[in-house]
Amino acid sequence: MITVLTGGTGGAKFVDGLRGIVPAEELTIIVNTGDDHDWWGLYVSPDIDSITYVLSGLLSPERGWGVRGDTFHCLQQMKELGEETWFSVGDRDLATHLLRSKLLAQGRTLSEATRTVSERLGVKQRILPMSDQRVETRVGTPNGELSFEEYFVKRWYQDPVESVRFAGASESEPATGVIEAITTATAVLIAPSNPVTSIGPILAVPGVREALANTSAPVVAVSPIIGTAAVSGPAANLMRAQGLEVSIAGVVKAYEDFLHVLVAHESDAEFAKSVSIGKIEIQCADILMRTIDDRKRVAATALSLPRPKIIQEQAAG
Ligand code: GDP
Repeated sequence: MITVLTGGTGGAKFVDGLRGIVPAEELTIIVNTGDDHDWWGLYVSPDIDSITYVLSGLLSPERGWGVRGDTFHCLQQMKELGEETWFSVGDRDLATHLLRSKLLAQGRTLSEATRTVSERLGVKQRILPMSDQRVETRVGTPNGELSFEEYFVKRWYQDPVESVRFAGASESEPATGVIEAITTATAVLIAPSNPVTSIGPILAVPGVREALANTSAPVVAVSPIIGTAAVSGPAANLMRAQGLEVSIAGVVKAYEDFLHVLVAHESDAEFAKSVSIGKIEIQCADILMRTIDDRKRVAATALSLPRPKIIQEQAAG
């Protein structure tokens, strides 16, 4: 059993690679829900949607979110009706939000709604929200505190970031299956997702960090940072705001209490030698995912690394 922790578009690319090489019934995906928000009265879960669409083959390859070939008639009509339209929802994508919201209104949990939606779209892998309770990523800026989608989509992540917090995290519980998926896996992978706002909310759910630290499986992360920049998106600013260096050293720091191996880009090989990392090993490879073959290669690299020394020592007794 392979368990992967993931967030949005960077994570979805990695999961796309994994689905090409791991049998569906052996893959569990634990997904960030810190970006979830209410939109037009519907419950939208952007990261669960991206993972569901990538696994069902529906994800738009051009946009990296939403449904391929979707139309936007409803969005246009909402604009004409004077509603907010900064968050783009395609017409087929809207059906997902309608079904999820209907199931939640009937009293189902987010896990149950996620399972129903994914099964109906033919997904065989197990997708677990990190929690069934609401945990909201809040980004503090000079213009006030924003939800993640306000910061990221509405305001194009242009605001200076002063703080990041996960409202509701301390009262939340991991969704059913999350802890077990981490502790019984043969390998736990951390996708090259934003360490602060995609993986950070999952780690903020009580019990998750402990499960990662205590699992007997190797925990392997693929770096979203190459050199001193994120491959894409606002990870650099968010890491700085959390006091993390924008480099593989910062990624290691974010995961230091549970990580065994960080897969870094080969251009970081020299720098990796200087990173003080305790028991964490850094292995270098080409971790850029431009094509589907790249995605499979990066996923295969993360899965085929020699077992980390610390795990070998544990196994030896
Ligand atoms: P997003 O922030 O909602 O787009 O979603 P994620 O948190 O999943 O992904 C963003 C992270 O993925 C960013 O920090 C990027 O630097 C990283 N990323 C995107 N594409 C790649 C890639 O091809 N390779 C690697 N290693 N990281 C990537």
